[in-house]
Amino acid sequence: MPRPLSATIHTSALANNLAVARKYAPNSRIWAVVKANAYGHGLARAFPGLRATDGFGLLDLEEAVKLRELGWAGPILLLEGFFRPTDIDVIDRYSLTTVVHSDEQLRMLEMARLSKPVNIQLKMNSGMNRLGYTPERFRAAWERARACQGVGQITLMTHFSDADSERGIAEQMAAFERGAQGIAGARSLANSAATLWHRPSHFDWVRPGIILYGASPSGISSAIEGTGLQPAMTFASELIGVQTLAEGQSVGYGSTFRARGTMRIGVVACGYADGYPRIAPEGTPVIVDGIRTQIVGRVSMDMLTVDLSPCPTANVGTRVELWGTTLPIDDVAHACGTIGYELMCAIAQRVPVRAE
Ligand SMILES: *Cc1c(COP(=O)(O)O)cnc(C)c1O
Repeated sequence: MPRPLSATIHTSALANNLAVARKYAPNSRIWAVVKANAYGHGLARAFPGLRATDGFGLLDLEEAVKLRELGWAGPILLLEGFFRPTDIDVIDRYSLTTVVHSDEQLRMLEMARLSKPVNIQLKMNSGMNRLGYTPERFRAAWERARACQGVGQITLMTHFSDADSERGIAEQMAAFERGAQGIAGARSLANSAATLWHRPSHFDWVRPGIILYGASPSGISSAIEGTGLQPAMTFASELIGVQTLAEGQSVGYGSTFRARGTMRIGVVACGYADGYPRIAPEGTPVIVDGIRTQIVGRVSMDMLTVDLSPCPTANVGTRVELWGTTLPIDDVAHACGTIGYELMCAIAQRVPVRAE
């Protein structure tokens, strides 16, 4: 028997979440973002749930080729562009669309020998200050791209740093408008947070990622209540041991937790080598036997321990949900000082994943 730990991908939730994204941005086309192996869900497993999209956005050429092999003939966008001249051969061969954010990339395109022009998304740095041309330099970059024989359609693109928070997008929108003024072409600005919360940013293409997987762009589960988004991954295991501690007895490495009275502790087959964060503190939520309880003691490589006080009938073999349809991944992430994105991407290779 394998360990009782597994991740389940809910295909119908992915399809539902794509429809929710469409409902929020009804006049835009959608790049469904599937980078990082579809945020840990598995590209091949996520594909059937997301195939009603208009295009897929990702980073790795290998993932782009895999999508073509899965039968996707529509647009594929390389969100960071390309890195070497030989990458352009793959872009050409598989008809990929690519971000262009630098003169180095433009130069490679100018030198490339292509069978047909490549559609590009010319990236503006409107304030995130990672990649792209500043508003001041954008027009010159666009003119250079337009003059390049190897370049087909040019979409104007930027990325928001604060669409999920108080600061919002106003400054970046203003910078974008300034840099893109008078330049024709489709526009693509909105990530998940802007898709949900900043309608004026939608334009021609939106680029949702995290909401397709049913988690919150802000990392706070209540922020997506009422949107209709559904968790697309359930990470679940079972109790493989039960201990009764006397008052003052501890559990796990470092003896960080001590029982305040007689109590039952459940041992769960899941540890940090499975992708569960070791940093999870006492009090991190977990569902045992359908009841919300909490982690006690330190998460170890292959196991973690939970308080069974609220779950009197729980025993060896009882189901444990680490996150999923009952427990929002954002609630676990929040307790750990991170966001759902990081947890879902971190599911380890050794965890069996299946789609349903
Ligand atoms: C990852 C990414 C997205 C999607 O971001 P979410 O917050 O998951 O919606 C959109 N655009 C670009 C350029 C990205 O890299």
